[in-house]
Amino acid sequence: MNKSNYILLTLVAAVIALFFLGRWTSMSLELRSEQVARHVHEAWCRADDVHAADTTLRIDSLFREELKAADLRRLRFRLNIVGLDSATTLRSTLHYYADYAPLVKAGRTYVIPTGDGQGIEARLLNLRAETLGSQLYYLLGTLVGFGLLGLGIFTQVSIIHRQDKLAQMREDFSYAMIHDMKSPLTTLLIGLRTLRSGRLDDKPEKKEKHFEVLEQEAGHLLTLTNRVLTLSKLEAGRLILDLDEVELPPLVEELTHTFETKAAKPVTFRTDLQAETVYADKEYLKEALSNLIDNALKYSKPEGVEVTVASCRENGYVHIRVRDNGIGIPLSAQRTIFGKFERVLPKDKGEGQKVSGFGLGLNYVMNVVREHGGYVGVESVPGRYSEFTISLPERKEEEERV
Ligand code: ADP
Repeated sequence: MNKSNYILLTLVAAVIALFFLGRWTSMSLELRSEQVARHVHEAWCRADDVHAADTTLRIDSLFREELKAADLRRLRFRLNIVGLDSATTLRSTLHYYADYAPLVKAGRTYVIPTGDGQGIEARLLNLRAETLGSQLYYLLGTLVGFGLLGLGIFTQVSIIHRQDKLAQMREDFSYAMIHDMKSPLTTLLIGLRTLRSGRLDDKPEKKEKHFEVLEQEAGHLLTLTNRVLTLSKLEAGRLILDLDEVELPPLVEELTHTFETKAAKPVTFRTDLQAETVYADKEYLKEALSNLIDNALKYSKPEGVEVTVASCRENGYVHIRVRDNGIGIPLSAQRTIFGKFERVLPKDKGEGQKVSGFGLGLNYVMNVVREHGGYVGVESVPGRYSEFTISLPERKEEEERV
């Protein structure tokens, strides 16, 4: 049996327990109401007897005393003068519990004749409260207890569900990562062997090309490991930022140049950097922007892509936007893509578009930006464009003075 089934079993047990508890509570409430009816009737009888023996005593005080003695001190009543007729309930007609219980439960006592065709009865004003009394608190307490139990179980089920999902994702991630590392490693190995064999010694151009490819592949591996490392540092709260004013134009220029040279499809870059500096850790910012540009290229149409990198200063933040005219992101996925290992794969797999990745890029961007005290936003229309915005707080004056 797996973890979720155990929880389900607990839930079923809790429901059964609740059912029996309900039965028990209703039985005990019934017993309580019988007891109250009996006590009220007996108190009225005793008050009647004492009053008959000494008519100078007040019947209401006597009844109150008797109720107190029966531990029904909270019960409130009012005495009513009623006319005697054939429908009047007198003491002589009440012998058994079944005779007086309905009367008491309706909030009345029998009528004590006072002469002149009249009588006196007590109207019980808060009988229900007295009947339920402390029982109600027990019942409510039990219900709250079971509610909390249910909530606890529900939370546990969702935590386990999330853990299972994460474990599955980690498994997929490890597989994908090893798979993705395999090809650059193979390229490195083959390239090194070729260079070592001396076959390219008399072909300097080819040799140079080989070195270039090897450097690129090694760089790819390094980026990957750095990304995983930064994420674990972030999770462990050990990421230390080296904050400074970063010049945006040269940084963006370097990135666009790198992507232009390695892009496998036509790519046009536009820049509109109205804010020229931003207060950030240069290396992490570069990596975050590189992720966004990389995605803009990866998730674009085969015929090419136009990427705009823009910046502006607004409300104490520097906003850096990376916009593409690629495949876009469905609205339902726009909230989830920042999660670890979250990916949205194109539906038209038939076209053979398998885009490599681990679902770590945006999570990296979000975490790094948050560490700077900023935030990330996304706006997209499927089939038309995606725009990611990194917003970083401007340097505060007191920081500038330090
Ligand atoms: P990866 O690219 O490794 O899948 P990311 O975290 O970088 O992981 O991105 C998560 C998902 O967000 C991607 O799988 C993709 O579906 C979607 N996505 C990210 N950037 C874009 C973009 N510019 N255009 C369309 N989809 C995008």
